[in-house]
Amino acid sequence: MPRPILATVHTAALAHNLARARAAAPDARIWAVVKANAYGHGIERVFDPLRSADGFALLDFAEAQRLRALDWRGPILLLEGCFEARDLELCSRLGLWHTIHCNEQIDMLAAHKTQLPHRVFLKMNSGMNRLGFTPERYRAAWTRLNALPQVDEISLMTHFSDADGPKGIAAALKAFDAVTHDLPGERTLSNSAASLRHGSVLAGRSDWIRPGILVYGSAPDFPEHSAVHWDLQPTMTLSSRIIGLQELKAGDTVGYGSSFTADGPMRIGIVACGYGDGYPRHCSTGTPMLVGGVRTRMVGRVSMDMLTVDLTPVPTAGIGTEVTLWGKASSGALMPIDEVAQAGGTVGYELMCAVAQRVPFQVE
Ligand SMILES: *Cc1c(COP(=O)(O)O)cnc(C)c1O
Repeated sequence: MPRPILATVHTAALAHNLARARAAAPDARIWAVVKANAYGHGIERVFDPLRSADGFALLDFAEAQRLRALDWRGPILLLEGCFEARDLELCSRLGLWHTIHCNEQIDMLAAHKTQLPHRVFLKMNSGMNRLGFTPERYRAAWTRLNALPQVDEISLMTHFSDADGPKGIAAALKAFDAVTHDLPGERTLSNSAASLRHGSVLAGRSDWIRPGILVYGSAPDFPEHSAVHWDLQPTMTLSSRIIGLQELKAGDTVGYGSSFTADGPMRIGIVACGYGDGYPRHCSTGTPMLVGGVRTRMVGRVSMDMLTVDLTPVPTAGIGTEVTLWGKASSGALMPIDEVAQAGGTVGYELMCAVAQRVPFQVE
């Protein structure tokens, strides 16, 4: 028998969450963001349930090629644009729309020989200070692009730094509006957090939204709101089984570094899942998980291939009992990925993306 760890991708949940994105911005078209191999789910596994999206956004040329290989003929947007001049050949060949965030990308485009002019998305740095032209430099970039025969349509884009938190999007939106109000072209502003939290302010201002994490059933603003609050369903379950049992007495310790000490008799289960599977090592005693659909907690440290779980709330558990690290148990009980991520000091995004190569996947 193979080692019992398994990742399951839930296609109905992907379709449900995509519908939630549509409901959040009913007048906008949707880029389903599938970067990082569809947030660790696998582009080929999510493609079918997400094919009613209006386009796919990503940043890796190899991933764009995989989408075209799936016979996706619709729009594909490269969120970071081109990294070197020859990338433009691929844009021409695969019909990719690309972001322009710096003058060097405009230089490359100006030198590019193409039959068909490119659709580009000019990115404004509205406060994130990662990619994009500052509001002061944005119009000059637009004017340069607009004069190039290599350019077809210019769309306007920004990415909010604080759509998920108390600072909000007001200042960024004001900066964007001040510079772009009289420019033609489609707009794309919102990630998941902006779509869910600021939908009413953004209504009618965004021709395209760019939801990623919400499509994968994790709340962009956890713990303020949960996935259940936003009516999102988990799209990935990481499950395993109990492969060993130990009976502890008071004073016994568990795992490397003896970080957990039993304060009385208790039974623990040894689970076939460790950081070698992508489970976060920063999780330790107290991290929630389900055993046989019943919520309990990790004890001790995560090791490469195993972790250990308190069986006190599940006295019937034994070798072979199902363990749900995150996602949905076969009983239907949920273990939100966001809660596990929080226990490890990170976010659901990172956990999904980190599932290791050795973990087999199934699609359900
Ligand atoms: C990743 C990304 C998104 C999606 O963000 P979520 O928080 O996952 O919704 C949207 N826009 C850009 C530019 C991105 O890089």
